[in-house]
Amino acid sequence: MPYNIVVLAKQVPDTKKITGKAMKDDGTVNRAALPAIFNPEDLYALELALSIKDAHGGSVTCLTMGPPPAAELLRDALYRGADRVALVTDRRAAASDTLATSYILSCAVRHAGPFDVVVCGRQAIDGDTAQVGPQLAEKLGIPQVTYVEAVKDLREGSITVRRSTDHGVEVLKGPLPILLTVTDKAHEPRYPAMKRVMKYKKAATAGEARSAGKQAPAGDLVIEEWNLDTIGADLQRCGMAGSPTKVKRIQAIVLAGSGHKEIRPDPEGIEGLVHELIEDHTIG
Ligand SMILES: Cc1cc2nc3c(=O)[nH]c(=O)nc-3n(C[C@H](O)[C@H](O)[C@H](O)COP(=O)(O)OP(=O)(O)OC[C@H]3O[C@@H](n4cnc5c(N)ncnc54)[C@H](O)[C@@H]3O)c2cc1C
Repeated sequence: MPYNIVVLAKQVPDTKKITGKAMKDDGTVNRAALPAIFNPEDLYALELALSIKDAHGGSVTCLTMGPPPAAELLRDALYRGADRVALVTDRRAAASDTLATSYILSCAVRHAGPFDVVVCGRQAIDGDTAQVGPQLAEKLGIPQVTYVEAVKDLREGSITVRRSTDHGVEVLKGPLPILLTVTDKAHEPRYPAMKRVMKYKKAATAGEARSAGKQAPAGDLVIEEWNLDTIGADLQRCGMAGSPTKVKRIQAIVLAGSGHKEIRPDPEGIEGLVHELIEDHTIG
């Protein structure tokens, strides 16, 4: 039986390849100094979705929310095997925290059409909260399984997956539709296929085509571009208005390699360390 699978993927700064000053003087991230990449665990999410399609048929839709350059991530998704891609982009979505982001993504998933499985990465390497997947499942009103490593079985109406926990692995069965968040212990992502690269390098959003002075692409070369009105989002739940998180202070922390403290490997040394960690609220 074929399945409609939706993958949520985020374009993130590559923190391993800093080409300039990573932070601006105002404490915000200097995105110009950090090349943008496919969030690593989202590649595993895409792979899991493609492997479901390979085994059962169906279609894989990849959605991302971000500024116009995030269309590059969607071309990459097409190179790897996605059937349909859409960029959710709107200035009114700026400053969205995870609550607003997951709300906007829930509207986008619904707008994309009927779905059986929604797949997210466990965590994005920039925001790093791992909140968006679980919040999205709540907003879609569907069950979720987090930290998924593999799909063990999929048949009409239900899916069985393996997930890892701090204490080992669990095998869980759940009803469809369902949301999974996937870790990098899942199957290695496939490489872009050369034939698909040759075809889909011409894929573009209408906005990209306009800026390049070209005709808007047609057919499966279209990268759909949706704004908050297209997906029917309530503006009060988007951007700053929909974000209860308030950033009090942003601080750049440089970890100096030189500072270290020796802890004696005896009960007094360990007790002193635990006491210190509780005092500075690292644990407690
Ligand atoms: C007050 C506040 C203001 C902010 N303002 C901005 C801002 O102006 N601009 C900005 O870029 N960020 C902003 N952020 C960060 C933004 O909230 C997060 O980047 C976003 O909500 C995703 O959270 P995360 O990175 O922790 O993702 P996680 O929860 O770690 O991501 C888990 C998974 O969810 C999916 N996912 C997450 N985000 C997206 C996405 N955008 N598209 C598709 N799938 C996704 C992916 O599958 C990902 O692997 C702000 C955050 C706060 C708290």
